Amino acid sequence: MEIQQLDGPLDFQDNSGLSFFFVGVGSAFSKVHFQTNILVCKGKDHLLIDCGTLCPYALWKYGSSVTKIKNFLITHSHADHIGGLEEVALMGRYVIKSRPKMIITDDYKKILWDQSLRGGNSYGEFADGEYLRFDDYFEQVKPEVIAKKPRSLFHVQSGSIDIKMFRTKHIPDSAGSWRNSFYSCGVLIDERILFPSDTRFDKELLDWMLAKYPTIEYIFHDCQFYPGGVHAYYEELKTLPDNVRSKMYLCHYGDNFASFKPEADGFAGFARQGVFYHFDK
Ligand SMILES: [Zn+2]
Repeated sequence: MEIQQLDGPLDFQDNSGLSFFFVGVGSAFSKVHFQTNILVCKGKDHLLIDCGTLCPYALWKYGSSVTKIKNFLITHSHADHIGGLEEVALMGRYVIKSRPKMIITDDYKKILWDQSLRGGNSYGEFADGEYLRFDDYFEQVKPEVIAKKPRSLFHVQSGSIDIKMFRTKHIPDSAGSWRNSFYSCGVLIDERILFPSDTRFDKELLDWMLAKYPTIEYIFHDCQFYPGGVHAYYEELKTLPDNVRSKMYLCHYGDNFASFKPEADGFAGFARQGVFYHFDK
């Protein structure tokens, strides 16, 4: 794997194979980093995993534009993951006149629209007795259920990018299981790169994924520096076996990250912002 700092305007094409570009690596309220949103590139194909409030600004800072994103996948409804979507929707409909694709289940589509996007996106037009709907802004791509046990697992292909999605346990912190947690999902790309997105410490999930997909090369994992709450505590992640920590980069971290040395604790390190991880170089 080669780690490459962006050295010009952000280009979505990666002729070397599969890569992740971290738009940001920060926690929800980071003032040092952008939010943990990832651009997946492979050949001519791309996918943006999450689009937080700062994402349109961040992509502009990288010399690109959120209007160039043609494929979205949203892991859950916190603003650092969906806050940029209102702009995406409005710019798509009224400026570039195109409807980007969004990989999303029927269940989460209803939640995302009714509880988040509708307030800003529905009431701009009224025709035939109806305001605008999700499908006026985005082209839904439905993932297919491929397993229900031990928890829901979905598959979808986006161009050459193979995507598996699975339920995670993020909120509330009182939920004992993913089953009674509010909707959140993680992503496995090409059966190689695991990104659980925002999640509490969930060894059961990691054990399941690593046993089912021994092809997993790297894990980009949520991390927080204090116990409790709705993310994975650094000290809990330290209890993982050596061979798991060594393939794990930490992301979604707070602004006090400089006082931690993840390599010294057996992790691959902190994921870095504005950087390409080229997995085939
Ligand atoms: Zn979250």
